[in-house]
Amino acid sequence: MKIKIQRKKASNKENYFEEFDVKHEETILNSLIEVKTKHDNSLAFRCGCKTGICGSCAIRVNGIEKLACKTHLNENDIIEPIKNTQVIKDLVVNLDYEGRVLKNSNSFLNQLSDVEITAEDEKLIDRQSNCILCQSCFSSCPVFEVNEKFLGPYALTRALRYVEDKKEANPSPTLEKIQNNGIWDCTLCGNCTIVCPQFIDPKTDIMNLRMKSVQNGYEDKSMNSFNGGFDTGFDNFGGFNPNSF
Ligand code: SF4
Ligand code: SF4
Repeated sequence: MKIKIQRKKASNKENYFEEFDVKHEETILNSLIEVKTKHDNSLAFRCGCKTGICGSCAIRVNGIEKLACKTHLNENDIIEPIKNTQVIKDLVVNLDYEGRVLKNSNSFLNQLSDVEITAEDEKLIDRQSNCILCQSCFSSCPVFEVNEKFLGPYALTRALRYVEDKKEANPSPTLEKIQNNGIWDCTLCGNCTIVCPQFIDPKTDIMNLRMKSVQNGYEDKSMNSFNGGFDTGFDNFGGFNPNSF
């Protein structure tokens, strides 16, 4: 079976594709290991647990983000590194932004509450807690093409995880941090939700964060500047405002 892999030497700025014939067809990760052990040991890619838990083998297969260890190989599959970050070599990308977006979104516990947590409380944040930081959603997000400071889907999902956590006594700093380059910059395209291997739904999480932000007195400031002072008769959420006439 043929597989095409995007290559980039550390010393070379240009990307190019190289085709290999592989016998190991179970998963794309096994095929990459076969290429490295039998054809070209200079091929660079990341992998860890090989069972879809560590999230380190995220790549793009025919343009869609996948975990290499959980994806079957098909004839003529095109394998590329994830997007929206710098390629270091072949399929290995720079992940420095991970710490930055998590810190900038304040995605951690601010103030520990002493309330007792029930099983129901845990369920509220169960799905968001399953994020394996594979970066697939980050790669699929179109906003980074116009705003490289965007916090991105998994950082916002993690922000909601802490805002909803009953152990958080003070979610205000997190809500404050996600207003700029955060929840209002998302186009709600849903790419992040489609590609997530953990069935997390960052798009819905972002909509929930918008609702919580409005309840706490925040608004989408870009909509005010978009109106340019002209009162359209509609509020920022598409609702008709009768008081404007
Ligand atoms: S829904 Fe928002 S965060 Fe998710 S990929 Fe689209 S623009 Fe990015
Ligand atoms: S939200 Fe899903 S796609 Fe995004 S980093 Fe977490 S596990 Fe990966």
